[in-house]
Amino acid sequence: MMGPAHSLSGAAAWLGVGAAAAAAGRPMPWPVLVVGALVCAGAALAPDLDHKSATISRAFGPFSRGLCGVIDKISYSVYKATKTQSDPRRSGGHRTLTHTWLWAVLIGAGTAVLGMAGGRWAVLGILFVHMVLAVEGLLWRAARVSSDILVWLLGATSAWILADILNKPGNGADWLFSAPGQEYLWLGLPVVLGALVHDIGDALTVSGCPVLWPIVVGRKRWYPVGPPKAMRFRAGSWVELKVMMPVFMLLGGAGCLAALGII
Ligand SMILES: [Zn+2]
Repeated sequence: MMGPAHSLSGAAAWLGVGAAAAAAGRPMPWPVLVVGALVCAGAALAPDLDHKSATISRAFGPFSRGLCGVIDKISYSVYKATKTQSDPRRSGGHRTLTHTWLWAVLIGAGTAVLGMAGGRWAVLGILFVHMVLAVEGLLWRAARVSSDILVWLLGATSAWILADILNKPGNGADWLFSAPGQEYLWLGLPVVLGALVHDIGDALTVSGCPVLWPIVVGRKRWYPVGPPKAMRFRAGSWVELKVMMPVFMLLGGAGCLAALGII
């Protein structure tokens, strides 16, 4: 899928988690619902950091372009080092290492530890990166015509404002993990979820997604998971734009209302 569909599915998934949390008796305060949805929308772009023309690789100028080159090289080496005889030869690292459940869990755990132990600036950093990505993903065309600097300013101000709101007692810095010192541990959850939702989205496209790596399936360690070929669609096709994106919006809206206890 393309950036906007990934981001929208990420936001919808977090709102769905909000509905499930409310049903399970651990409702999210509204700032957790909003911030989580935005972080998840941003995190849902992150696996494409292995592709130089992806939204995320362009989002932070030379910094993200450089990181993208490094991630692509690492992913390609890991692919070559771990492929079985049945995995095809390939020429780059796109849709390999960063498109696996293991990667999702590792960056989620990293974010959780950073958010919990890194203090205010770590939380601001995590929010800033994901707010910029959420703006790029959700307001795709609008962000593309404005300048990068404006998007970064928007990301920085919204990160600052949202961190202040979350810090107020009862607003959810300690949602789900409420022991002293565990504030912001939950920030890892939308990051894991966003990456997994991205992988599922890619699995629905023609080439599939090797999300199960390093688990061997049918003699392939990079088995491209996906539905039967007839049910797959091309990235950026009308199915994605005219069917899936409106469905994500409806599901997200329903999830949001349920999470807030309105329905
Ligand atoms: Zn992808």
